[in-house]
Amino acid sequence: MFLPQEIIRKKRDGGVLSAEEIRFFVGGITTKRITEGQIAALAMAVYFNDMTMDERVAFTLAMRDSGEVLDWRSLDLPGPVVDKHSTGGVGDVVSLLLGPMVAACGGFVPMISGRGLGHTGGTLDKFDSIPGYSTVPDNALFRKVVKEVGVAIIGQTASLAPSDKIFYGVRDVTATVESVAMITGSILSKKLSAGLDALVMDVKAGTGAFMPTYEKSVELAESIVKVGNGAGMTTSAILTDMNESLAPYAGNAIEVRGAIDYLTGKSRPARLHDVTMALCAEMLVLGKLAASEDDARARLQAALDSGEAAERFARMVVALGGPADLMEQPDKYLERSPVIVPAPALSSGYATATNCREIGLAVVSLGGGRRRAADPIDFAVGLTALVSLGDPVAAGQPLAMVHARTEEAAEQAVREIQAAYRISETPAAANPVVYRTIRP
Ligand code: URA
Repeated sequence: MFLPQEIIRKKRDGGVLSAEEIRFFVGGITTKRITEGQIAALAMAVYFNDMTMDERVAFTLAMRDSGEVLDWRSLDLPGPVVDKHSTGGVGDVVSLLLGPMVAACGGFVPMISGRGLGHTGGTLDKFDSIPGYSTVPDNALFRKVVKEVGVAIIGQTASLAPSDKIFYGVRDVTATVESVAMITGSILSKKLSAGLDALVMDVKAGTGAFMPTYEKSVELAESIVKVGNGAGMTTSAILTDMNESLAPYAGNAIEVRGAIDYLTGKSRPARLHDVTMALCAEMLVLGKLAASEDDARARLQAALDSGEAAERFARMVVALGGPADLMEQPDKYLERSPVIVPAPALSSGYATATNCREIGLAVVSLGGGRRRAADPIDFAVGLTALVSLGDPVAAGQPLAMVHARTEEAAEQAVREIQAAYRISETPAAANPVVYRTIRP
């Protein structure tokens, strides 16, 4: 039996907590044996004094075990259970492509995704723009769709890692979110609850990334790889660029259209394709579905070329309640904005930088994201035809097309887009799309 205040004192004084102490504390969060004040105090102590990798593993496993842990073994699936998670980005439609592509190559992807946070988009909000699609199926339907289609993308349920929900809520209001140890535990406890064999983490770096510097993104990626593997889940991380929108568009229904165009081969923007292929290939290799990265890439390309990946997406949509002809007739279902206007460049030159966070916030202020958790989302709004970094632009030429609900909202977004781009006389060196891969 431990005393919570003694555990807090030990961490406050720079000590290393035992797995038993961590289990006692985290286990007490959901039973209310530990108060919010004690959670806040421990969070602040961890913020300043950090956790060793062993402490992080114990913290992650304790949060996983605070709720339900999905078990796929009874389904006798003929392939590995694999997933990808990202730290969040702008125009990041990868999940909608990756799930069906990996399923088409023999993986099983039970993807539990989240809503938009701050300036970043959320996979769940994108699926909510498809009429009829249920992001909250019961457990039996979720399992059936994973088994039969190979992929189901749904929302977080209250039963997975409930202590993380409480812990995160306290961190959010006590200035203790920015701790690599606690971010690692928070993300991985939820992924471990999904019962995965392997996870690939997409850690973004750049002006639109959750982590404030490249070095911090590397630190998080390394922590996630060590702790994920330490907790028994094969885990890799790929550092990818978020200095500009990943796709040349952002917004909920807009990104679903983009995903359909990608899967059907109508349009595959290069940066989006590079990141998607890198993450999918890593999943196939980790899941032992491919012998090498080259082999994985060849199989993924074949799944796209044959239409098999598009078919998996279509089957998932139908199985979860969406329309059967969404791929053929997206305009029948996906809402469009009444006001579509260009955001003209104010000078001529080359697009050398964007404040990607500001681009994401422009989508939020159009109504495509939330300022408060309870805010409704306008699925139709967003941005298309975003100019890529390095592209030449002439004064007056659009930096993007703004899709808005009203003229006033459009005018504000135009100003925000103009402010978010830097136009220089000479082009800057291009950023890599994939910086590096971190493996166990
Ligand atoms: N996302 C999470 O799920 N947890 C964190 O702590 C930070 C980002």
